[in-house]
Amino acid sequence: MQLLDYSFEEIENIVLSLGEAKFRAKQLFEWLNKGAEFEEMKTLPKSLIEKLKEAGYIAQAIHIEDVRVSKLDGTKKYIYRLSDGNIIEGVLMKYKYGNTICVSTQVGCRMNCAFCASGLDGLIRNLTPGEILGQVIAVNRDNKEGKERAITNIVLMGSGEPFDNYENVTKFLDLVNAEEGLNISMRNISLSTCGLCDKI
Ligand code: SF4
Repeated sequence: MQLLDYSFEEIENIVLSLGEAKFRAKQLFEWLNKGAEFEEMKTLPKSLIEKLKEAGYIAQAIHIEDVRVSKLDGTKKYIYRLSDGNIIEGVLMKYKYGNTICVSTQVGCRMNCAFCASGLDGLIRNLTPGEILGQVIAVNRDNKEGKERAITNIVLMGSGEPFDNYENVTKFLDLVNAEEGLNISMRNISLSTCGLCDKI
């Protein structure tokens, strides 16, 4: 079970169900959104960390496997490994007005657009809300360089058709917009669709 899949309110319920104080939920949620593993969550008691592990929770849903940096403009291409071994990709683009991350929403894609390689093997599986959020968190941590937050904009234009994974994508939007988390404004998020009109 990936803790990044849960909203702040759901994290509160998990913490309470484990017999810990409610204020620990805010600390845990903030650590998760900073990209921390359990061992790095220094303000949390060991008892809570152990209970979370025993209950089968994992902190970070994805890990950066490789990064390629463009010599031309500093654009970074990321390869991420998911907890089940699947691989997805993403891009960080640096502009004058900020840093935009392109995130994937599925492993593979069933839409099979003629110009795109993502659909060649069809849809492997949907990404969970936490696996989409995990891309933003991992790249934010990799590029913070002392700043509070490196990512200013998000485009949902990586592998997958976002509206073919509607419930998880809309929950991701709520998670990444959460005040207690990265708090990225909806105005700075663009969703690209190949045209699932009834979902728009
Ligand atoms: S919907 Fe997007 S990811 Fe899927 S095949 Fe078309 S262009 Fe590629």
